[in-house]
Amino acid sequence: MEKYIVGNWKMNLGDGRGLSLLKHLATLKIFPGVRVVVCPPALLLREAHHTLSPGLALGAQDVSAHPGGAFTGEISAAMLKAAGCQYVLVGHSERRLYHGEGEALLREKVRQVQSHGMTPIVCVGETLEEKKQGGALPFVTAQIRALALSGSYLLAYEPRWAIGTGLTAGLHDIQDIQSVLKEQFGAPVLYGGSVNAENAPDILALPAVDGVLVGGASLDIEAFSKIIESTPK
Ligand code: PEP
Repeated sequence: MEKYIVGNWKMNLGDGRGLSLLKHLATLKIFPGVRVVVCPPALLLREAHHTLSPGLALGAQDVSAHPGGAFTGEISAAMLKAAGCQYVLVGHSERRLYHGEGEALLREKVRQVQSHGMTPIVCVGETLEEKKQGGALPFVTAQIRALALSGSYLLAYEPRWAIGTGLTAGLHDIQDIQSVLKEQFGAPVLYGGSVNAENAPDILALPAVDGVLVGGASLDIEAFSKIIESTPK
């Protein structure tokens, strides 16, 4: 099965550094069985599409739940598709936390993405509090069930306490949680949360890990290239 390496730039590198990173990425040798997806800020999508294709895939960091119309500031799935996107992050914890995105809205976003022929990368994950209270797995399973997913999608298990903190879930925990998710939902499951060049080889070697979603380390060409290279062939 394919392993996914997804880089989420968040609200970074919107200037010339982003373009030069894209040019570097376009020169990387990508082995068969490795799918690299780059999610730059929306304003770079078109440029990224021309620079990256055909070797690397393009993803958006967010999408509107609406097909079009009077929704100031939003970007529709049709627009993302036209810009060359094949994947869209949906329900990233920063969207849930800072923009109050809940289940009903996320269901619509997934629907928009899929109906435009793109693949949603649905992000889920527990806070430390939730982990202590009922355990990560019941929380994450409920989070996914609430979205009533069907069709083609990827899951990204990203413990909230591991995002941007330098902390990662233990290898056993990642394997245990993701193997249950894979079995229950029948979708590929990526891991995210402080993945870097040093920990990526061990994480990517886990059988229940179908890839990684990388934030901070995807901004650094050397670190991101090493993560891509460390993918088991
Ligand atoms: C993310 O943005 O999804 C993420 C996992 O960030 P980081 O790798 O920086 O923890």
